[in-house]
Amino acid sequence: MASPKNVHPDRPDTYRIETELTHLGRNPESHQGFVNTPVYRGSTILFPDMQALMKNDAPYVYGRKGTPTTTSLEDAMNHLEKAAGTVLVPSGLGAITCALLAILERGDHLLISDSVYYPTRQFANTMLTRMGVHITYFDPLCGKKIGKYMNDRTRAVYLESPGSHSFEVQNIPAIAEVARKRKAYVLADNTWATPLYHKPLDLGADISIQACTKYITGHSDAMLGTISCNKRAYKKVRKTWEILGNCAGSEEIFLGLRGLRTLKIRLEQHAKNAMEVASWLQQRPEVKKVIYPALPDDPGHKIWKRDFTGASGLFSVILKPCEQEALAAMLNDLRLFGMGWSWGGFESLIVPFELSNIRTATQWKAKGPCLRFHIGLESPADLIADLEAGFARLNRT
Ligand SMILES: *Cc1c(COP(=O)(O)O)cnc(C)c1O
Repeated sequence: MASPKNVHPDRPDTYRIETELTHLGRNPESHQGFVNTPVYRGSTILFPDMQALMKNDAPYVYGRKGTPTTTSLEDAMNHLEKAAGTVLVPSGLGAITCALLAILERGDHLLISDSVYYPTRQFANTMLTRMGVHITYFDPLCGKKIGKYMNDRTRAVYLESPGSHSFEVQNIPAIAEVARKRKAYVLADNTWATPLYHKPLDLGADISIQACTKYITGHSDAMLGTISCNKRAYKKVRKTWEILGNCAGSEEIFLGLRGLRTLKIRLEQHAKNAMEVASWLQQRPEVKKVIYPALPDDPGHKIWKRDFTGASGLFSVILKPCEQEALAAMLNDLRLFGMGWSWGGFESLIVPFELSNIRTATQWKAKGPCLRFHIGLESPADLIADLEAGFARLNRT
């Protein structure tokens, strides 16, 4: 599928990541000198003659199966995730469902981390269950004890490190070692850290999933997902992707490629700002706990330090118990924090959440209200002033 002409043919392996991010997945020589691979819009691709049409071995045969724009991002993600192959899908959730459908068959047993992104759970509990897949949720902190959840039919272990909202850092090498002995696949949702800071395939996973909607596109203006696979998983995933017809749009792929160019400087700033705001929040009397693996006293900090090379701008806070009305007074009049789903764009966001009736393998014991913060590229001093005024409203109500 890959056409070597759309990516630079002789890129050395020794480039540092900043250099890679500016050069990955493009080759101006193939596009009249234009710096970026253009948005190829197309369904039909014409063949020169009947023989070529019948032979069906051209690098591009039909829009759904990929264009040079597709190949460019696939190549870049392969490099970043250390993958043998990547497929591009229309959303992060689309990546999750396509990867699971590729691996699982009727009668299989699937293990899922209890702090997984909620729509993953929904897909497993509805469609996968209907297909005859048995699901068990496990404690995300189980590490090598993952074996106790397995049986002879366990086909795959699904991880998301750190977990959605509660940020449990999972011991991927330990889990992958146990899974490998039983020939089970390991899938990891790598959206929080991006492949810049975390490479699940290097740690023993077979598949790394990315909601590019978040940091890769990075501007809250596109939906996109990627599934990056090792050799063992790639054939299955590519085949399922083809059967499903779940191709990403070329405009979105272009935005993904564009996002990569600034990924490092954006993430560094997100993390720096997040650390400043998180540390400030830790000192507030209204705050019970800040959950952010980059904080030295976070329970996941040790493994995060071992397996990640950086943090992003997303973390959670557990407040001391207060009235709903007081919380609303705080959130409703924030000037800089938007309230809305998703994250990973340039702007700061805040959402309240509740997990106690979602978990099944573990218990969520927080008594006070919980808030998820995405810290954007604004000045942290301005963000802190906004929150300070918010806490004043909370205390007044
Ligand atoms: C947002 C998100 C997704 C889903 O991505 P969409 O592009 O919104 O479908 C998947 N996993 C995680 C961890 C997410 O935060």
